[in-house]
Amino acid sequence: MNTELLFRDDAYLRSATARVTVVTERGIELDRTIFYPLGGGQPGDTGVLVRENGERIAIADTRKGEAPGSILHVPAPGTPWPEPGEPLMLEIDWARRYPLMRLHTALHLLSCVVIAPVSGGNIAPDKARLDFDIDMGLLDAERITRETNALITSGVATETVWITDGELEAQPELVKTMSVQPPRNAGRVRLLKIPGIDLQPCGGTHVRNIAEIGGIRVTRIRNEGKRNKRVEIVLAG
Ligand SMILES: [Zn+2]
Repeated sequence: MNTELLFRDDAYLRSATARVTVVTERGIELDRTIFYPLGGGQPGDTGVLVRENGERIAIADTRKGEAPGSILHVPAPGTPWPEPGEPLMLEIDWARRYPLMRLHTALHLLSCVVIAPVSGGNIAPDKARLDFDIDMGLLDAERITRETNALITSGVATETVWITDGELEAQPELVKTMSVQPPRNAGRVRLLKIPGIDLQPCGGTHVRNIAEIGGIRVTRIRNEGKRNKRVEIVLAG
């Protein structure tokens, strides 16, 4: 069943009400959700679903379901499960999600400072990385840190833009990531626009203004293979 993705329009929603639609051994489906499902290198949200009697259902992970548009909220071991039709109050672990949003948005900037095809990437609450298909000699940690922080200081507001599949096909240069297919929804593709800096397909959660990243530091540059030179960053602001 299709779940309304509230985080798509407002990544800052920490709580919302929803109703249980389906319960299977794989997880809980809701009519709408603020929980981001694992995808695009960003981990699934954790948090709680609060029942009307105040009982708290701990959510350990969020995944995409098998049917397109379905989202599975995965309960932690030993936690109570809700009934279909039950109304719930959703609360995401904001202390975990917000740094993920800051690091995720920082990776967009990193992909503009290092000019090379992106061959991989991952985001954790405490660090993030992109892999580039580039010569190791062209990667300088100090320069990348300085130039990314200069962009952050510019304080540009981010925007979400939708284009059609056809418009994306006409502009293949928008897709920087070789291994990740852009998120598509009913013939439309969602883009993150950082005016004057970056424009690329992305279904993840981002900060409203890149100044919220605060600052980053490159902690490690490592050779992970012929086409994977890995740049790892942490928040430093
Ligand atoms: Zn993104």
